[in-house]
Amino acid sequence: MCRHLAHVGPRPVTLASRVTEPPHSLLVQAYAPADMRGGGTVNADGFGVGWLDGDTEDAVGHSYRQPVPMWTDASFLDLATAVRSTAFVAAVRSATVGMPVSVGACAPFRDGTRIFSHNGVVRGWPGSLADLAAELDTQTLMTLEAPTDSAVLWALVRRHLDAGKDPADAVLDVVTRALAAAPGSRLNLLLLTADQRGEPTLVATAIDHALSYRAGADGVTVASEPLDDDPGWTSVPDLAAVVVRGRDATPEVTSLT
Ligand code: GLN
Repeated sequence: MCRHLAHVGPRPVTLASRVTEPPHSLLVQAYAPADMRGGGTVNADGFGVGWLDGDTEDAVGHSYRQPVPMWTDASFLDLATAVRSTAFVAAVRSATVGMPVSVGACAPFRDGTRIFSHNGVVRGWPGSLADLAAELDTQTLMTLEAPTDSAVLWALVRRHLDAGKDPADAVLDVVTRALAAAPGSRLNLLLLTADQRGEPTLVATAIDHALSYRAGADGVTVASEPLDDDPGWTSVPDLAAVVVRGRDATPEVTSLT
């Protein structure tokens, strides 16, 4: 199963400080993950980063994705040392059997300043999600970035955000209903959004997959696997969500049961 991470902090840090430089960075988790829990071996089917630029109402989102192993993209490894942000998401992908390897299938998905990743699988795809997908309008379904479970989950979350729903409520509603429709699914979702003042909200769920977080003076980092052996990493219990509101906020862990 894919690996992902997100960071929110008071000061900009390089993408590399979380994605490529730590001893067990996302780059290492691409070729030597430690806690895949029975789902795949390496995360070599693509990667992506999405980040917010600017700390005010002028905040904009950017992203970079490629359907190749992260370690083969030397330009990205360089770019990651140059780009600084206070809020970003990164992911490496292990395509679920039957799903395509393409740039559009690589997380994170982005719509303006909304950035989304899914680590896991919807059991019984595609039939199990058909009723939920029927809530989406035809044009949304026609323009999904990829025919994957993750792309449909993203469209369902986006629909709630478009309707003005709180980001945490949007994610929790989608995971609750997807789990009811497709029991046994692995649904580690990450959503990063910015409000009208540019303040970020980060929501991360742990449903049948590994997730840890670390909070400190330099912000909050959430990752599938701890990036180093710092004892400050806390493992998120199963069926729980971590929510971080604002750059200076502390993470709140909520049980989904
Ligand atoms: N099912 C998703 C995909 O194929 C996520 C894969 C994963 O987490 N390994 O893109």
